[in-house]
Amino acid sequence: MYGIIATWRMAFEGITAGREILEDGGFAGDAIENAIREVEDFEFYKSVGYGGLPNEDMEVELDAAYMDGTTLDIGAVAAIKDYANPISIARRLSKEKVNNLLVAEGAERFAHKEGFQRKNMLTERAKIHYYNRIKEIKEQEIKPYSGHDTVGMVGLDKRGNMIAATSTSGLFMKKKGRVGDSPISGSGFYVDSKVGGASATGLGEDLMKGCISYEIVRLMKEGHHPQEACEIAVNRLDKELKERRGKSGDLSLIAMNNKGEWGVATNIEGFSFVVTTEHQEPIIYLAKNINGKCIHEKANSEWLDNYMKTRTAPLVRR
Ligand code: ASP
Repeated sequence: MYGIIATWRMAFEGITAGREILEDGGFAGDAIENAIREVEDFEFYKSVGYGGLPNEDMEVELDAAYMDGTTLDIGAVAAIKDYANPISIARRLSKEKVNNLLVAEGAERFAHKEGFQRKNMLTERAKIHYYNRIKEIKEQEIKPYSGHDTVGMVGLDKRGNMIAATSTSGLFMKKKGRVGDSPISGSGFYVDSKVGGASATGLGEDLMKGCISYEIVRLMKEGHHPQEACEIAVNRLDKELKERRGKSGDLSLIAMNNKGEWGVATNIEGFSFVVTTEHQEPIIYLAKNINGKCIHEKANSEWLDNYMKTRTAPLVRR
Protein backbone atom coordinates (compact mmCIF):
# COMPACT_ATOMS: atom_id res chain seq x y z
CA MET A 1 0.00 0.00 0.00
CA TYR A 2 1.08 3.60 -0.51
CA GLY A 3 -0.53 7.01 -0.13
CA ILE A 4 -0.28 10.70 0.65
CA ILE A 5 -2.69 13.02 2.43
CA ALA A 6 -2.16 16.78 2.56
CA THR A 7 -3.71 19.99 3.82
CA TRP A 8 -5.33 22.37 1.31
CA ARG A 9 -5.99 22.35 -2.42
CA MET A 10 -2.52 23.82 -3.08
CA ALA A 11 -0.99 20.38 -2.46
CA PHE A 12 -2.70 18.83 -5.50
CA GLU A 13 -0.03 19.24 -8.21
CA GLY A 14 2.76 18.23 -5.84
CA ILE A 15 0.87 15.15 -4.70
CA THR A 16 0.18 14.14 -8.27
CA ALA A 17 3.94 14.13 -8.93
CA GLY A 18 4.68 12.51 -5.55
CA ARG A 19 2.25 9.68 -6.28
CA GLU A 20 4.32 8.66 -9.32
CA ILE A 21 7.41 8.32 -7.13
CA LEU A 22 5.48 6.07 -4.73
CA GLU A 23 3.93 4.08 -7.55
CA ASP A 24 7.43 3.34 -8.89
CA GLY A 25 8.43 2.03 -5.48
CA GLY A 26 10.28 5.20 -4.43
CA PHE A 27 10.93 6.46 -0.89
CA ALA A 28 8.16 8.43 0.83
CA GLY A 29 10.76 11.06 1.81
CA ASP A 30 11.49 11.83 -1.85
CA ALA A 31 7.79 11.92 -2.76
CA ILE A 32 6.95 14.30 0.08
CA GLU A 33 9.98 16.60 -0.34
CA ASN A 34 9.25 16.92 -4.07
CA ALA A 35 5.58 17.54 -3.48
CA ILE A 36 6.25 20.31 -0.97
CA ARG A 37 8.90 21.93 -3.18
CA GLU A 38 6.26 22.29 -5.90
CA VAL A 39 4.05 24.20 -3.49
CA GLU A 40 6.97 26.35 -2.29
CA ASP A 41 7.93 27.25 -5.86
CA PHE A 42 4.47 28.30 -7.06
CA GLU A 43 4.30 32.06 -6.62
CA PHE A 44 0.50 32.31 -6.46
CA TYR A 45 0.24 30.32 -3.21
CA LYS A 46 0.58 33.13 -0.75
CA SER A 47 1.13 31.19 2.45
CA VAL A 48 4.05 28.91 1.52
CA GLY A 49 7.51 29.55 0.06
CA TYR A 50 7.98 31.99 -2.85
CA GLY A 51 5.16 34.52 -2.85
CA GLY A 52 4.40 33.82 0.83
CA LEU A 53 3.00 36.76 2.78
CA PRO A 54 5.45 38.79 4.86
CA ASN A 55 5.70 39.65 8.56
CA GLU A 56 4.94 43.13 9.89
CA ASP A 57 8.40 44.32 8.77
CA MET A 58 7.55 43.16 5.21
CA GLU A 59 10.02 40.26 5.37
CA VAL A 60 9.12 36.71 4.32
CA GLU A 61 10.16 34.44 7.21
CA LEU A 62 9.47 30.76 6.58
CA ASP A 63 8.98 27.69 8.81
CA ALA A 64 9.32 24.06 7.65
CA ALA A 65 9.82 20.58 9.07
CA TYR A 66 10.54 17.02 7.96
CA MET A 67 10.14 13.85 10.04
CA ASP A 68 11.05 10.28 9.16
CA GLY A 69 8.67 7.90 10.93
CA THR A 70 11.02 4.93 10.61
CA THR A 71 14.16 6.43 12.19
CA LEU A 72 12.27 9.21 14.06
CA ASP A 73 14.75 11.71 12.56
CA ILE A 74 13.43 15.27 12.70
CA GLY A 75 14.78 18.38 11.00
CA ALA A 76 13.25 21.85 10.98
CA VAL A 77 13.89 25.51 10.22
CA ALA A 78 12.05 28.51 11.59
CA ALA A 79 11.95 32.18 10.60
CA ILE A 80 14.38 31.51 7.74
CA LYS A 81 14.72 34.20 5.06
CA ASP A 82 15.96 34.23 1.47
CA TYR A 83 16.11 30.50 0.74
CA ALA A 84 14.00 28.93 -2.00
CA ASN A 85 13.10 25.58 -0.42
CA PRO A 86 12.91 25.44 3.38
CA ILE A 87 11.59 21.86 3.19
CA SER A 88 14.86 20.63 1.67
CA ILE A 89 16.90 22.39 4.35
CA ALA A 90 14.67 20.78 7.01
CA ARG A 91 15.20 17.35 5.45
CA ARG A 92 18.96 17.90 5.35
CA LEU A 93 18.91 18.90 9.06
CA SER A 94 17.05 15.69 9.90
CA LYS A 95 20.23 13.81 9.04
CA GLU A 96 22.27 15.60 11.75
CA LYS A 97 22.79 14.04 15.18
CA VAL A 98 22.24 17.35 17.00
CA ASN A 99 21.28 20.89 15.90
CA ASN A 100 18.13 19.60 14.18
CA LEU A 101 15.99 22.72 14.54
CA LEU A 102 17.70 25.94 13.45
CA VAL A 103 16.18 29.43 13.41
CA ALA A 104 16.76 32.67 11.51
CA GLU A 105 20.45 33.56 10.87
CA GLY A 106 21.62 30.19 12.18
CA ALA A 107 19.40 28.37 9.71
CA GLU A 108 20.52 30.70 6.90
CA ARG A 109 24.19 30.13 7.67
CA PHE A 110 23.66 26.35 7.60
CA ALA A 111 21.76 26.57 4.31
CA HIS A 112 24.52 28.70 2.79
CA LYS A 113 27.26 26.27 3.87
CA GLU A 114 25.30 23.35 2.45
CA GLY A 115 24.85 25.12 -0.87
CA PHE A 116 21.07 25.55 -0.85
CA GLN A 117 19.59 27.94 -3.39
CA ARG A 118 19.26 31.54 -2.20
CA LYS A 119 16.25 33.51 -3.42
CA ASN A 120 14.44 36.70 -2.52
CA MET A 121 11.07 35.22 -1.51
CA LEU A 122 9.13 38.52 -1.42
CA THR A 123 7.15 38.98 -4.65
CA GLU A 124 5.60 42.20 -5.99
CA ARG A 125 2.20 40.59 -5.45
CA ALA A 126 2.96 39.87 -1.79
CA LYS A 127 4.02 43.51 -1.34
CA ILE A 128 0.64 44.65 -2.71
CA HIS A 129 -1.13 42.33 -0.24
CA TYR A 130 0.97 43.86 2.52
CA TYR A 131 0.20 47.49 1.67
CA ASN A 132 -3.49 46.70 1.17
CA ARG A 133 -3.67 44.95 4.51
CA ILE A 134 -2.16 47.94 6.29
CA LYS A 135 -4.98 50.05 4.82
CA GLU A 136 -7.64 47.45 5.70
CA ILE A 137 -6.45 47.25 9.28
CA LYS A 138 -6.84 51.02 9.64
CA GLU A 139 -10.11 51.39 7.74
CA GLN A 140 -12.08 48.21 8.36
CA GLU A 141 -10.54 46.72 11.48
CA ILE A 142 -9.73 43.52 9.60
CA LYS A 143 -7.66 41.25 11.80
CA PRO A 144 -4.03 41.64 10.74
CA TYR A 145 -3.33 37.92 10.97
CA SER A 146 -6.10 36.53 8.79
CA GLY A 147 -4.85 34.87 5.59
CA HIS A 148 -2.50 31.98 6.36
CA ASP A 149 -2.28 28.26 5.53
CA THR A 150 0.35 25.56 5.85
CA VAL A 151 1.02 22.75 3.46
CA GLY A 152 1.30 19.67 5.69
CA MET A 153 1.67 16.15 4.32
CA VAL A 154 1.84 12.57 5.53
CA GLY A 155 3.07 9.88 3.13
CA LEU A 156 3.40 6.10 3.17
CA ASP A 157 5.55 4.15 0.71
CA LYS A 158 5.36 0.52 -0.46
CA ARG A 159 8.03 -0.52 2.03
CA GLY A 160 6.04 0.87 4.95
CA ASN A 161 8.12 4.02 5.53
CA MET A 162 6.11 7.02 6.64
CA ILE A 163 7.13 10.69 6.41
CA ALA A 164 5.45 13.86 7.70
CA ALA A 165 6.43 17.35 6.61
CA THR A 166 5.25 20.97 6.66
CA SER A 167 6.08 24.32 5.05
CA THR A 168 4.55 27.75 5.64
CA SER A 169 5.07 31.50 5.77
CA GLY A 170 3.02 31.42 8.99
CA LEU A 171 0.69 34.22 10.00
CA PHE A 172 0.49 37.24 7.69
CA MET A 173 1.80 40.32 9.55
CA LYS A 174 3.29 38.21 12.34
CA LYS A 175 5.96 39.74 14.56
CA LYS A 176 9.52 39.27 13.33
CA GLY A 177 10.82 36.04 14.86
CA ARG A 178 7.35 34.56 15.52
CA VAL A 179 7.38 30.78 15.15
CA GLY A 180 4.17 28.79 14.70
CA ASP A 181 3.34 25.12 15.17
CA SER A 182 4.55 23.97 11.75
CA PRO A 183 8.25 23.40 12.62
CA ILE A 184 7.42 22.11 16.12
CA SER A 185 7.39 18.34 16.55
CA GLY A 186 4.13 17.01 17.94
CA SER A 187 2.20 20.18 17.11
CA GLY A 188 2.48 20.85 13.36
CA PHE A 189 3.43 17.26 12.51
CA TYR A 190 4.30 13.85 13.94
CA VAL A 191 4.82 10.44 12.38
CA ASP A 192 5.73 6.94 13.51
CA SER A 193 5.92 4.27 10.78
CA LYS A 194 4.73 1.69 13.32
CA VAL A 195 1.45 3.63 13.65
CA GLY A 196 0.83 6.59 11.32
CA GLY A 197 1.25 10.32 11.05
CA ALA A 198 -0.61 13.62 11.30
CA SER A 199 -0.16 17.25 10.32
CA ALA A 200 -1.91 20.49 11.23
CA THR A 201 -2.94 23.83 9.81
CA GLY A 202 -4.69 26.73 11.48
CA LEU A 203 -3.77 29.04 14.33
CA GLY A 204 -0.37 27.81 15.49
CA GLU A 205 -0.69 29.37 18.92
CA ASP A 206 -3.79 27.21 19.58
CA LEU A 207 -2.63 24.04 17.78
CA MET A 208 0.45 24.03 20.04
CA LYS A 209 -1.75 24.11 23.16
CA GLY A 210 -2.86 20.56 22.35
CA CYS A 211 0.34 19.06 20.83
CA ILE A 212 -2.35 17.94 18.47
CA SER A 213 -0.43 16.00 15.82
CA TYR A 214 1.19 13.84 18.48
CA GLU A 215 -2.18 13.39 20.17
CA ILE A 216 -3.68 12.02 16.94
CA VAL A 217 -0.81 9.56 16.47
CA ARG A 218 -1.23 8.51 20.11
CA LEU A 219 -4.95 7.88 19.56
CA MET A 220 -4.20 5.83 16.43
CA LYS A 221 -1.69 3.81 18.47
CA GLU A 222 -4.47 3.06 20.94
CA GLY A 223 -6.39 1.53 18.06
CA HIS A 224 -8.48 4.39 16.69
CA HIS A 225 -9.03 4.73 12.95
CA PRO A 226 -7.39 7.96 11.64
CA GLN A 227 -10.83 9.50 11.13
CA GLU A 228 -11.85 8.86 14.73
CA ALA A 229 -8.46 9.98 16.04
CA CYS A 230 -8.70 13.30 14.15
CA GLU A 231 -12.27 13.97 15.30
CA ILE A 232 -11.57 13.13 18.94
CA ALA A 233 -8.45 15.31 19.08
CA VAL A 234 -9.89 18.32 17.24
CA ASN A 235 -13.23 18.27 19.09
CA ARG A 236 -11.50 17.96 22.47
CA LEU A 237 -9.03 20.77 21.88
CA ASP A 238 -11.72 23.02 20.40
CA LYS A 239 -13.91 22.40 23.47
CA GLU A 240 -11.11 22.94 26.00
CA LEU A 241 -10.06 26.19 24.33
CA LYS A 242 -13.64 27.49 24.28
CA GLU A 243 -14.26 26.53 27.91
CA ARG A 244 -11.02 27.93 29.26
CA ARG A 245 -10.38 30.87 26.96
CA GLY A 246 -13.79 31.74 25.46
CA LYS A 247 -12.73 30.92 21.90
CA SER A 248 -10.75 28.57 19.76
CA GLY A 249 -8.63 29.43 16.72
CA ASP A 250 -8.83 27.52 13.44
CA LEU A 251 -7.81 23.87 13.85
CA SER A 252 -7.61 21.53 10.83
CA LEU A 253 -5.85 18.17 10.85
CA ILE A 254 -5.07 15.37 8.42
CA ALA A 255 -3.80 11.88 9.26
CA MET A 256 -2.90 8.56 7.66
CA ASN A 257 -2.03 5.26 9.31
CA ASN A 258 0.47 2.66 8.11
CA LYS A 259 -2.28 0.78 6.27
CA GLY A 260 -3.04 3.82 4.12
CA GLU A 261 -6.33 4.55 5.90
CA TRP A 262 -6.84 8.26 6.40
CA GLY A 263 -8.82 10.83 8.33
CA VAL A 264 -9.46 14.54 8.62
CA ALA A 265 -11.08 16.91 11.10
CA THR A 266 -11.62 20.65 11.27
CA ASN A 267 -13.47 23.28 13.26
CA ILE A 268 -13.91 25.56 10.23
CA GLU A 269 -16.11 25.62 7.12
CA GLY A 270 -14.51 24.66 3.83
CA PHE A 271 -11.19 23.10 4.81
CA SER A 272 -9.80 21.65 1.56
CA PHE A 273 -7.45 18.68 1.51
CA VAL A 274 -6.01 16.21 -1.00
CA VAL A 275 -5.65 12.43 -0.75
CA THR A 276 -4.20 9.75 -2.96
CA THR A 277 -3.64 6.04 -2.32
CA GLU A 278 -2.72 3.01 -4.35
CA HIS A 279 -6.42 2.67 -5.20
CA GLN A 280 -7.22 6.31 -5.75
CA GLU A 281 -5.83 9.08 -7.98
CA PRO A 282 -5.37 12.41 -6.12
CA ILE A 283 -8.76 13.87 -5.15
CA ILE A 284 -9.53 17.30 -3.69
CA TYR A 285 -12.12 17.28 -0.91
CA LEU A 286 -13.82 19.96 1.16
CA ALA A 287 -14.46 19.28 4.84
CA LYS A 288 -16.61 20.86 7.51
CA ASN A 289 -17.63 20.07 11.07
CA ILE A 290 -21.29 19.26 11.79
CA ASN A 291 -21.94 18.63 15.48
CA GLY A 292 -18.53 17.08 16.05
CA LYS A 293 -18.61 14.93 12.91
CA CYS A 294 -16.33 15.82 10.05
CA ILE A 295 -18.21 15.68 6.76
CA HIS A 296 -16.27 15.84 3.53
CA GLU A 297 -17.19 15.82 -0.14
CA LYS A 298 -15.34 16.09 -3.44
CA ALA A 299 -14.77 19.69 -4.52
CA ASN A 300 -16.98 20.42 -7.55
CA SER A 301 -15.71 21.91 -10.81
CA GLU A 302 -17.13 25.35 -10.00
CA TRP A 303 -15.16 25.47 -6.76
CA LEU A 304 -12.01 24.26 -8.51
CA ASP A 305 -12.25 26.82 -11.35
CA ASN A 306 -12.90 29.60 -8.92
CA TYR A 307 -9.93 28.57 -6.78
CA MET A 308 -7.29 29.17 -9.45
CA LYS A 309 -9.06 32.25 -10.81
CA THR A 310 -9.05 33.99 -7.45
CA ARG A 311 -5.42 33.02 -6.72
CA THR A 312 -4.12 34.35 -10.03
CA ALA A 313 -6.47 37.34 -10.52
CA PRO A 314 -4.73 40.67 -11.10
CA LEU A 315 -4.15 42.52 -7.85
CA VAL A 316 -4.13 46.29 -7.52
CA ARG A 317 -2.77 48.43 -4.77
CA ARG A 318 -5.62 50.26 -3.12
N1 ASP B 1 -0.28 26.92 11.49
C1 ASP B 1 0.40 27.98 10.78
C2 ASP B 1 1.05 28.91 11.77
O1 ASP B 1 0.47 29.20 12.79
C3 ASP B 1 -0.48 28.74 9.86
C4 ASP B 1 -1.54 27.95 9.14
O2 ASP B 1 -1.42 26.75 9.00
O3 ASP B 1 -2.54 28.53 8.70
O4 ASP B 1 2.12 29.40 11.49
